[in-house]
Amino acid sequence: MTLEPIAVTTPSRVPENAKPASWERKHLLGLEDLSREEIESILATAESFGEISTRSRKKVPALLGRVVFNLFFENSTRTRTSFSLAAKRLSADTQDFTASASSLSKGESFIDTAKNIEAMGADVMVVRHPTPGAPHLLAQHVGASIINAGDGAHEHPTQALLDILTIRRAKGRIEGLTVGLVGDISHSRVARSNIWGLTKLGARVILCGPPTLVPRRLEQLGCEIAYRLDDVLPRLDVVNVLRIQFERDQRAVFPSIAEYFRLFGMTQERIRRGKPDLLLLAPGPINRGVELTPEVADGPHSAILDQVTNGLAVRMAVLYLLSGKSDAHGPTLD
Ligand code: ASP
Repeated sequence: MTLEPIAVTTPSRVPENAKPASWERKHLLGLEDLSREEIESILATAESFGEISTRSRKKVPALLGRVVFNLFFENSTRTRTSFSLAAKRLSADTQDFTASASSLSKGESFIDTAKNIEAMGADVMVVRHPTPGAPHLLAQHVGASIINAGDGAHEHPTQALLDILTIRRAKGRIEGLTVGLVGDISHSRVARSNIWGLTKLGARVILCGPPTLVPRRLEQLGCEIAYRLDDVLPRLDVVNVLRIQFERDQRAVFPSIAEYFRLFGMTQERIRRGKPDLLLLAPGPINRGVELTPEVADGPHSAILDQVTNGLAVRMAVLYLLSGKSDAHGPTLD
């Protein structure tokens, strides 16, 4: 029997402009630490990686042989799958670690678990944890690059980067825009990372929600605080609706969902009263009928699914930039 030769194809190349001009960081722990230039560098790299996802062969060999571990100690739909797919598009090996199915239940510590994963050759660890600062702790104890995929109510840097990329692609700029973050600000890591990122890039940020969910002290970060959405709505270029995080706070933080929806829900009526080109974002998961109506979620102002697409490009960019720091060789560029 004769065997047909297997066709060997040359892997397609990483776009030339994806090469980081100068990238020094090993970890991505939050946007608070990053400079405007560093944020712009990630966005520029993400722009060039977005093109790879439009090719018929959506894969480049940039991280061939690298190992990316997802360590998720909290649930996730988009972030975990997006990081996995991003790593695969760059030809890295990926492995998911699920806390509930691990020896953590036998008493093994968080750091010991991470050290064992590192001993298996992890170059990058993507970490989600309910405790603020958990990824920072890991960065001090393991040699791998750490990416914060959400630490409690602290930061979720790649979510903010994808939000910012989505805004910039729709509006052509960030500088000078007014962005409303509406809803549960106090429990939202998405809000904190958005505040750092947007203000560094020159946007005005208005935090809006019930007083129980919008801490006054966040004014110190250079934001405006508003408790009545209808007062600020006409000024907004972008509205990012944040989910009420019932799982983080069991207390009654407002009288009822119906009341919340009446005061802060994004409806067609509110869209009509906003700017004609008002852009609507939501990090997901969305609760239709609580933060926004189905018509608004699926309507022409919504960029919710663009955020998911842009998230993949952002995570490819971050993995690519950080992997260059996980050893002396840097990512391969062809
Ligand atoms: N998915 C986002 C997060 O993990 C937002 C949310 O859960 O509402 O923070």
